[in-house]
Amino acid sequence: MKLDVLAIAAHPDDVELTCGGTLLKMAQKGYRTGILDLTAGEMGTRGTPETRAKEAGKAARILKVSWRGTLGVPDSDVQPARQHKMRLAAQIRELRPHTVILPYWEARHPDHYHASTLGYEGCFLAGLKQLALDGEPFRPFKILYATSFEGMPASFIVDITKQYEARRRAILAYGSQFRPGKSERKQKVFLAIDQLDARMDLMARHYGQMIGVRYGEPFLQKELMAVEDVVALPVRSI
Ligand SMILES: [Zn+2]
Repeated sequence: MKLDVLAIAAHPDDVELTCGGTLLKMAQKGYRTGILDLTAGEMGTRGTPETRAKEAGKAARILKVSWRGTLGVPDSDVQPARQHKMRLAAQIRELRPHTVILPYWEARHPDHYHASTLGYEGCFLAGLKQLALDGEPFRPFKILYATSFEGMPASFIVDITKQYEARRRAILAYGSQFRPGKSERKQKVFLAIDQLDARMDLMARHYGQMIGVRYGEPFLQKELMAVEDVVALPVRSI
């Protein structure tokens, strides 16, 4: 297995919400894409791990990913612990992704910022020749951070206008998270589906507007972008 793009995140549905449109767009370009959920989302208030696995499978089909797996880190206890890093490194050696998308390194939910660190350190370890781990040493070429929900300045934005509707369906595939059962409808804890829909639309439009398109997804990279041709730069200035 050799992936072009692998998105890693803490919980099933995180990737759909932050970079689902970009993953689909890359698959449509012919790249092999994948999603690695660090946990099975078993601490979620709603839905069993089995339901979430089914929903994750459906979302993966909508986003046309070539591979989706779960690392088996305990939900709500994502940490850059040695054993998790080693498992992740083994997975990276198997999947050999050219580009890895991680969550941004600051977040409200500890699982999200720990997922960022765990992801980075797992990718680093995977390249160490002396590591007592099976598989050929390998390090991804590029690491990108998905910043949708953190409001951080992005390095670039991907136009996902043509992918937005499918991304929306992939997110709504997680029915157990967003569709209240009868007994839950009056509770305040539920992020009702119409609110989620409105919020997704607002975020994607906000970022799309910054590059002059309808819908966008923002990313940050630690390196600067190299440019060959300043005449071919997209996005109008005035
Ligand atoms: Zn999450």
